[in-house]
Amino acid sequence: MTNQDIIRWLGLIADTLHENAQYLTELDSAIGDADHGTNMNRGFTAVRAKFASMEAMDMAGTLRTVGSTLVSTVGGASGPLYGTAFLRAGGAVAGKESLTPADLVAMLDAFLGGIVARGKAHTGEKTMIDALTPAVNSAKEALAQNASLAEITARAASAAEEGMKSTIPMLATKGRASYLAERSIGHQDPGATSSWFILRALAVVCAQQ
Ligand code: ADP
Ligand code: MG
Repeated sequence: MTNQDIIRWLGLIADTLHENAQYLTELDSAIGDADHGTNMNRGFTAVRAKFASMEAMDMAGTLRTVGSTLVSTVGGASGPLYGTAFLRAGGAVAGKESLTPADLVAMLDAFLGGIVARGKAHTGEKTMIDALTPAVNSAKEALAQNASLAEITARAASAAEEGMKSTIPMLATKGRASYLAERSIGHQDPGATSSWFILRALAVVCAQQ
């Protein structure tokens, strides 16, 4: 996994968020303020505009650029949350030209760590953490079984999908959705959904290696 593959991953995230902007916004309209799709699409459109300059960076530089771009372009909670995630992911791969399975799992762990550090949420609070935590745990389990990059990321994506679905019956206690209290129950969390898209895109890129 090289800087080129990271840029391919970012391109796929940008495509997916563009295609699903309306869907994410609909999810956010049920329990938030109907802007998650717009926010994420705006952020990754700005990231896409930097692909040419990212070609000349190393992967830590690319990931840190994603982080700072999301912080500065995405309004709403998700900008600083995903921004910190990508900044920390960049920190975890500093100096590396290509990622081993262990490096990639460390990168995912740092990504999740950034969101936890920034948002102080725990699992079960109906946020992106509920998709990302089981994903990182599955990636670690797969790594311990000497799985390939493709296998690790496929298992992470599938755990993220289950984690995303697990947010439906949850009561939101963090972010805007918490204002709804009991009325947040029965709706899938938009941020958990964008987290699944991000991990699914990673699995697709790793499957093509
Ligand atoms: P805003 O809530 O400011 O409108 P978005 O709509 O872009 O921002 O993002 C909402 C998503 O952010 C939620 O669906 C949830 O997954 C995530 N979120 C909100 N607060 C937190 C937090 N403290 N920790 C982790 N994720 C959070
Ligand atoms: Mg919102």
